[in-house]
Amino acid sequence: MALKSLPEGAQCESFPCTCAPAHQNNFYTWYVPKTMIQDLIIIGGGPSGINVAISAKKAGLNYLILEKGMVSNSLFNFPVNMTFFSTSLKLEIHNIPFISHRDKPTRSEALEYYRRLIQSQDLKISLYEEVRKMLRADDGIYTIKTSKGQHQTRAICVATGFYDTPVLMNVSGEELPKVKHYYDDPHAYINQNVLVVGAANSACDAALECYRKGANVTMAVRGEEISSRVKYWVKPDIDNRIKEGSITAHFNTTITAIHADRVDLQTPEGPLTIPNDFVLALTGYQPNYPLFEALGLTIGDDDACKPIFNPNTLEATLPNVYIAGVACAGLTTNKLFIENTRDHGEIIMGDILSKR
Ligand SMILES: Cc1cc2nc3c(=O)[nH]c(=O)nc-3n(C[C@H](O)[C@H](O)[C@H](O)COP(=O)(O)OP(=O)(O)OC[C@H]3O[C@@H](n4cnc5c(N)ncnc54)[C@H](O)[C@@H]3O)c2cc1C
Repeated sequence: MALKSLPEGAQCESFPCTCAPAHQNNFYTWYVPKTMIQDLIIIGGGPSGINVAISAKKAGLNYLILEKGMVSNSLFNFPVNMTFFSTSLKLEIHNIPFISHRDKPTRSEALEYYRRLIQSQDLKISLYEEVRKMLRADDGIYTIKTSKGQHQTRAICVATGFYDTPVLMNVSGEELPKVKHYYDDPHAYINQNVLVVGAANSACDAALECYRKGANVTMAVRGEEISSRVKYWVKPDIDNRIKEGSITAHFNTTITAIHADRVDLQTPEGPLTIPNDFVLALTGYQPNYPLFEALGLTIGDDDACKPIFNPNTLEATLPNVYIAGVACAGLTTNKLFIENTRDHGEIIMGDILSKR
């Protein structure tokens, strides 16, 4: 096929396109004229960013999603065999059907849904373009600096989630390659001594799956029991596996050091060293606060450390800068999810349009 070269400043609207060279390699990458001022730039191409983009498109705005990784980057890094706790009906956005084989979709069905939304709604998204900084000029126009260049826009929506920054244990040996802050697939852990750190949903799911596939699983839990927030159908399963001794759990326990072949624990009975091949440190995630700072967002000074925004409009303390999705929750990452943030696109668009 003959390749068409893109004229200076032109924007390719066709799909599949014949533009060369980068666009052809990645049909999600849009050429945006450098001089064009967008109405809205959405930072983050996860479920929330996609939701806001569909609202922006319906409202007739010029918008662009900037995503530092692939489409729904966070979901891609979820455990390979995971099933959502929400039904697909509750995850559906803009009344666009989300089809899954069972009531609750799998990770791969969710990825399919978000891929299809990008394609069927013809959303403008630039992938593998990381936002690093934001500056506001006197005329109110924002310049966004990215890993690939810069963009100008009248409004911004920060939909960066919380999955990029694991909460670290800050113990010696945490930097060893055998320590994982993201759990993907149990296959790697068969016949291995695996220490799962944490007692929330991710930790319990990983412990159960690894145990069932043949790993020797031990859990180190800071509190005195498995979290009461663990999904109601998983809680009895993990409690009973611990009770019967299939999974060893040390409660009121912290890790003091990780070595190549063992781990040191501090238990209520005193120090304990156990043989170890892998540590799955599923101790939670938090928003990217250095990014929030680089964007100039104001963070609340209470324990939740939420970015400050007007709950009626989702507008932050900077004019025409909005926060969407789970990023609104700060450190209280269990309070907001896709299900209960699906109205964010409409709320933000309502405010943008009301100012025109
Ligand atoms: C294991 C797990 C299971 C879950 N199950 C459910 C469920 O069943 N139901 C439910 O409603 N919720 C669930 N959640 C919560 C919620 O679905 C997810 O957190 C969801 O990903 C939130 O969507 P989001 O778009 O707000 O954030 P994200 O999906 O995290 O999207 C943020 C995007 O921003 C991008 N980004 C970050 N920084 C930059 C930057 N500087 N420049 C450009 N792009 C950037 C990231 O790459 C990412 O793609 C679950 C979460 C986890 C971890």
